[in-house]
Amino acid sequence: MRILISNDDGILAEGITVLRKALEEIAEVFVIAPDRERSATGHKITMHRPLRIKELDADAGQCRCWAVDGTPADCVKLGLEALLPEPPDLVVSGINGGPNLGIDVLYSGTVSAAIEGIINDIPSVAISLASYHDSDFSHAGSFVKELICRAGRYLPARTLLNINVPPGLPRGARVTRLCNRRYINVFEKRTDPRGRTYFWMAGEPLDLDADDPETDVCAVKNQYVSVTPVSFDLTDYRIIDDLKKWLATK
Ligand code: MN
Repeated sequence: MRILISNDDGILAEGITVLRKALEEIAEVFVIAPDRERSATGHKITMHRPLRIKELDADAGQCRCWAVDGTPADCVKLGLEALLPEPPDLVVSGINGGPNLGIDVLYSGTVSAAIEGIINDIPSVAISLASYHDSDFSHAGSFVKELICRAGRYLPARTLLNINVPPGLPRGARVTRLCNRRYINVFEKRTDPRGRTYFWMAGEPLDLDADDPETDVCAVKNQYVSVTPVSFDLTDYRIIDDLKKWLATK
């Protein structure tokens, strides 16, 4: 099996190193990742300037690694179209430092790297350690390795698995749906040294269905690994028939 690894925390992040070492045990691995942190860049791509790449030595020299001065989506695009000798069987993105729950999947560079995989019909996995304080990626690494061993060859081409691993030892895994998350208290209004107002975006998540055991946020809160199948068809099928009627009356 051939696996393309990327992330949004940058090629030097601890999480991507743990992921690479875990997957090297079971597959031929290529790493293509941003040369610096690109968290919360969503599906941004770079079109108005060139992309520069730099090949790096992974410490054991077992796999090829490239740092790119672009976004996670750029990295996967480059891998699929320009850098890999053959298409990968799987794209795996992470291990992100911090959760990617609910609506986070739209803002997340980690998840966007995986979305770029499924846009190109390559089954993909995004994996995050759901904590900003814990830096022990080992359980996440062994979980994703085990999952790929068991199910890697069966994953559908246009679905990604969005995985969130709780900090500490997980009690097991749950298949979940994305929670209904939004952010509140987002902007901090401040004044700069010249007396001008500026805003700094931060905010805290408000999860409206955090107690629903079907949700990703509930699984992680209860110390389970959350595995959510995600696809990118954003069409709202529920309204199509009504919309047809409304437009036909014009
Ligand atoms: Mn990140």
